[in-house]
Amino acid sequence: MAKRDYYEVLGVAKNSSPDEIKKAYHKLALKYHPDRNPGDKEAEEKFKEAAEAYGVLQDPEKRRAYDQFGHEGPGFQGGPGFANVEDIFSAFSDIFGGSIFGDMFGGGRGGTRTAGRRGASLRCSITLEFTDVAQTVEKVISLRRNESCDTCGGTGAKPGTTPATCKQCGGQGVVMTSAGFFSMRSTCPRCQGRGEVITDACPKCHGSGRVAKEREITIKVPAGIEDGMTLRVAGEGEAGENGAPPGDLLCDVHIKPHPLFKRAGADVYLVVPVGFAQAALGASIEVPTLKGKAELKIARGTQSGQVLRMRGEGFPKLDGYGRGDQLVEIAIEVPAKLTRDQERLLREFAETEEQNISPERKSFLDKVRKMFTK
Ligand SMILES: [Zn+2]
Ligand SMILES: [Zn+2]
Repeated sequence: MAKRDYYEVLGVAKNSSPDEIKKAYHKLALKYHPDRNPGDKEAEEKFKEAAEAYGVLQDPEKRRAYDQFGHEGPGFQGGPGFANVEDIFSAFSDIFGGSIFGDMFGGGRGGTRTAGRRGASLRCSITLEFTDVAQTVEKVISLRRNESCDTCGGTGAKPGTTPATCKQCGGQGVVMTSAGFFSMRSTCPRCQGRGEVITDACPKCHGSGRVAKEREITIKVPAGIEDGMTLRVAGEGEAGENGAPPGDLLCDVHIKPHPLFKRAGADVYLVVPVGFAQAALGASIEVPTLKGKAELKIARGTQSGQVLRMRGEGFPKLDGYGRGDQLVEIAIEVPAKLTRDQERLLREFAETEEQNISPERKSFLDKVRKMFTK
């Protein structure tokens, strides 16, 4: 069978940079990895082909020889190459950040049988009222997840029977195949690396060792959590394979907006309308807080737009140290309608204002006068 051109295999141009080659290989390796395509011979061949092409093209010397002589070049007849799949991974582990293949192999890279894979993580979302998170709350969510089958204890074998040693790999969980100058060690396609196969499947889970179950999970939401954060609930994801640990449950938190309150971190912000007379004379008013209501003293002569701080009336801080504040912006209201009596009083007041100009007004009027008399 004629070999495909290495550049064609990776889908890159003849003059591509080492970086482009690396990226192209990375993509193919992830796509055709045997663990992602169990039992798919074609994917396995593509995987090996890509690894071989990359093995040559990532090495400047081998690449030069290949460019000159093609597959028949002197360096390609049984050249050093890689002894097995693991060599390929260890040589290129940098591009995978080390962990991806570790996960794919379920930790079985070192040798014989793969241990069961850790369960997948699940995602959910919860929506909370704005004031809910002023304290720690518990929310119950329903989800469907795969759990370890209790009939067979997660082994997949019918109770009373035991799995048989895999004939294809002799219980090793890995098989050797050769392709070109490679001798590849890969996860056994028959037993998926377990080293054993189930002869009598558990009637409940049909050999998978796992069954889907509806569950209600109580999630403890810490006080002070913010919109858009994600909670990780350890161990509440899907069951692992063969007794491996379960995945986690990741819970996205949404907090509904409030008609009165706004939030900035642990602080709460609120605009409170105050009558013109109250602001001028000073008053004690009742304002809503996260916990209910509280008295707020408005000093004599409070101006519109002034912000008053109510210490400790905000959300608990996420680090557990103290609470934020409630910031109250005063909005002074001018009456839109006046009774006859009010109008009379206000006119009297206005006349006194003409005679006794307030200090702020005086300084403002002075500035205006200056503006026009240059
Ligand atoms: Zn079972
Ligand atoms: Zn096997």
